[in-house]
Parts: sequence; structure tokens; C-alpha cells
Amino acid sequence: MRLSRYFLPTLKETPSEAQIASHRLMLRAGMVRQGAAGIYSWLPLGLKVLKNIESIVREEQDRAGAIELLMPTIQSADLWIESGRYDDYGKEMLRIEDRHDRKMLFGPTNEELVTDIFRREIKSYKDLPKNLYHIQWKFRDEIRPRFGVMRGREFLMKDAYSFDLDAENAVKSYNAMFVAYLRTFARLGVKAIPMRADTGPIGGDLSHEFIVVADTGESEVFFDKGFEDFDPLSVDSGLGDDLQPVVDQWTSLYAATEEMHDPDAPEAGGADIVKGRGIEVGHIFFFGEKYSKPMKAEVQGPDGKPVPVQMGSYGIGVSRLVGAIIEASHDEHGIIWPEAIAPYKVGLMNLATKDADCTAACDKIYADLRSQGVEVLYDDRNTGAGAKFSDMDLIGLPWQVALGNRGFKNGVVELKNRATGDREEVAIADIAARFAG
Ligand code: ATP
Ligand code: MG
Repeated sequence: MRLSRYFLPTLKETPSEAQIASHRLMLRAGMVRQGAAGIYSWLPLGLKVLKNIESIVREEQDRAGAIELLMPTIQSADLWIESGRYDDYGKEMLRIEDRHDRKMLFGPTNEELVTDIFRREIKSYKDLPKNLYHIQWKFRDEIRPRFGVMRGREFLMKDAYSFDLDAENAVKSYNAMFVAYLRTFARLGVKAIPMRADTGPIGGDLSHEFIVVADTGESEVFFDKGFEDFDPLSVDSGLGDDLQPVVDQWTSLYAATEEMHDPDAPEAGGADIVKGRGIEVGHIFFFGEKYSKPMKAEVQGPDGKPVPVQMGSYGIGVSRLVGAIIEASHDEHGIIWPEAIAPYKVGLMNLATKDADCTAACDKIYADLRSQGVEVLYDDRNTGAGAKFSDMDLIGLPWQVALGNRGFKNGVVELKNRATGDREEVAIADIAARFAG
């Protein structure tokens, strides 16, 4: 993409409304703009990152055997009245009436709707297990939307719902999601710690939150240093594998939030317990018959008798992750994207746009990179070198390639690694090959 033709409205000044780094940087890097409190437009650069995160989330859900569908954002209130949550949910639910005075709502989550889909179509235990998921916008009328996309009112969530015949199998479905989450966050380039959680208003028996450690997290967390040594990507789980040992290994480590007031908690600072702040990026629940019972989502069991299915639900805050990853990965100059989700891999800068030869050399590097399938953002604007370097640092692409008059005379570009700051000179003729494969 040529920057001269792109839409990347970067800001030099720090926007006054933003209190934390990720919010400031997302505004300054031209990734989002606020439409109303907690409601954002995703500008092209932000949308690319959002889509990259979404793809990794999707791949790991598919790998774990979950099946993608798409449910609507607007739901009928009837199902929520049936489950008993219409009154319980409170003011966070945006309630709407259509022209026929029918009660509707903008979905804050989808347990009711997916349970309804399930009960209409699936009648036998032979069709279990099933795990259905979608990646869809949610609305929660948060009392205090803040921190940009991290606590928005409209936000993108991946939510999966598992259906099993009995609790034993439901725990297997839960474990499959547990491992899928570890893999997902590792691939996204962040460390997310699974923490035993309260089951809260969704209710139920077994629940974990996945917490990214960052100074600006909303809750105080205590966790075992041992989390740093595990590599979730070493677990190559398949459908039906027994994942209990993997889950046990992770959950044997200590992790808690300050609210838990755990009397047996190891001392922070002592042993191997570290204290930090955390951002919740995912949350998984096993809640049994909580919805299947009132909504009569039953299958015929092996003995011919109807039984309510055992359910779980599994959320990932896809749009929140954009902010959370920036919180965990930035410096005073801007964002530092993990390579897996970077909007472009390479930022190419022509520092001598008035020089025809230098421009031709840059154009050729651009064409060569593109023909190799490398995603490259090409700063071909007629602006000064200073603005180019600072915008490139701000938007955080993993690799920067700069060519100016002096480099052109010497036949070299400057290659910079955004994360380490390391710079080296590479022959103009060799630079594209550096990104091959
Ligand atoms: P929180 O405790 O942060 O309010 P929650 O427990 O209400 O979140 P869940 O119902 O568990 O959220 O939703 C699943 C995931 O959706 C969360 O782990 C989080 O990553 C994301 N999420 C929830 N609320 C928001 C929000 N207002 N803005 C952005 N993402 C959100
Ligand atoms: Mg939660």
C-alpha cells in the first residue's frame, strides 16, 4: 500500500481524552475514531489488526473442533424472558422496541439464542458433542466506558457454546477451549495467565479468566513466576485428546486477583509469586443446565429418555485484545506489533522523493516485496524524513526499510527492527530477499 493513497490520519499531539497508552496510541496511529461514548469506527490500519487477531482466534477455534456460524446482533426479548435473564441483566442491556412494539435488544451475549438454535435442530445424544461459535459485535451499556476499545460499549467478541450429554464430556469440551485459548494468546504474541474465576451472573461451576499482565490493567493480580516457562504452542491438541493433564499442569500454578481474598494465598514477593495488574481478554465457563433446563434444550439419551444438555460458554474480547496487546507492547515512540498481527510486515520509506533514481529504487523494492507476498506499507509521501521516521515508529510495523540519497549512492538501505531498535545496512539488491519465505 502506498501511503500517499492510503487513509492513515496520524496525530502528533496526544489526545487529551485518552488516559492510557493504548488508547492514546490507537488514536495517534489513526486506528480508531470515537463515534459516541464507547463506540468506535475502525479506520483502515486498526481494521487490519482487528482482522488479523480475528483470523488467529478463528484458526484456533476451528483446530479445537468448534464450528463457526453467525448469529445476529439484534435479538428478540422473548428468549431472554424464557431463560429468566431479561429482568436480571439490568441496565447494561440495550433494549429496543420495533415498529410493532415488539421488545428487542442488542445482544450482550448469545447463550439464549444459541440454545434456541440447538434445541430446534439437535434431538439425539448421537449428535453430541457440538461446539458452535461466532465472532460478532456485542453491545453492553457500560456505566463507564473508558480506555478506548478496552472497555467499549460496542465491542467484538468471539463466543463459543458447547453442548454435551453429561458433565464428564462437558469438562472435556471445556478443556479443549482452555488449551485453545492458551494457544491463541501465545500466537497473538501475548502471555495470558489462566485464573480461576467467579462464575458471576452467568452462573455455573467451573470458570477461568485469561489475564494479560500490563501495568494499566483494571485488576490487581498475583501469579506464579512458573507461568513464564510454559510454552502453550508445544501442546498440539486434537479433537478427542485427553487434555486434562495439560489443564492440570497449568492450573497447578497459583494465580488470583485481589478481590479473591484467598486465605491460603502465598505471600506476594515471597516464594515465586509476583504481583502485577491484569487485563481480562478471555473468559470460559462451564454452567451445566443453567439454560438448557429452563429453555428445555434436551436430547434423547442412550436409554431413550430426554435429558437437558450440559453447556459451557467461551468468550474472547477480540477488539479489547487490540488495546491489551498495545498495553503489553509499546515504547515512548509508539506501538510495537508482534509480527503475527502487524497490519503490515514492512514499512518502506523513500527519504528522497524528489530524486528520480532513489524513487525508482524504492519503487522496485516495493514491487519486489509485493511480488513475494510481503505486506508492505510504502511511505512515498513528499514529507520530511523526520515525519516519516516518527510515523513509522508510531504505527509500529516490525521492520523498517529506509532509502535516502546517501544510502542510494552507497547502494544500501537501512533496515531497522522496531522491537529491538537494531539497525543494519543491507545492499539495495538484497533487501527484498531478506523477507523471502
Ligand atoms: P469485564 O469483567 O471486563 O467487564 P466480563 O466478565 O463482563 O468483562 P465476559 O462476559 O466474560 O466479560 O465477556 C467475554 C470477554 O469479552 C471478556 O473476557 C472481555 O475480553 C470482553 N469484553 C467484555 N466486556 C467488554 C467491553 N465492555 N469492551 C470490550 N471487551 C469486553
Ligand atoms: Mg468475564
